[in-house]
Amino acid sequence: MATWDHAVRAMNADQVEFYAQQGWTCATGKCSAPVSHIVGYKLVTGRAGRVGIREFRVCTAHAGKFAVKHGLTMPGMEDAR
Ligand SMILES: [Zn+2]
Repeated sequence: MATWDHAVRAMNADQVEFYAQQGWTCATGKCSAPVSHIVGYKLVTGRAGRVGIREFRVCTAHAGKFAVKHGLTMPGMEDAR
């Protein structure tokens, strides 16, 4: 299945706190770390060829892996030295 427009966005502090209070954990399923980033991409869904958007809330580590896999810049890491 073709996917494109991969993106990684950092949540702001309020969002991080909100999801922590809700008990959300990394969407990868094998990971119980709190969520801090939203990763997403577009894909064609169904036989009609509609374009859909998939988004997942994931932890920092998995957002980083997603960024590396798709050649993206990890938000919040630009200034890290
Ligand atoms: Zn994770």
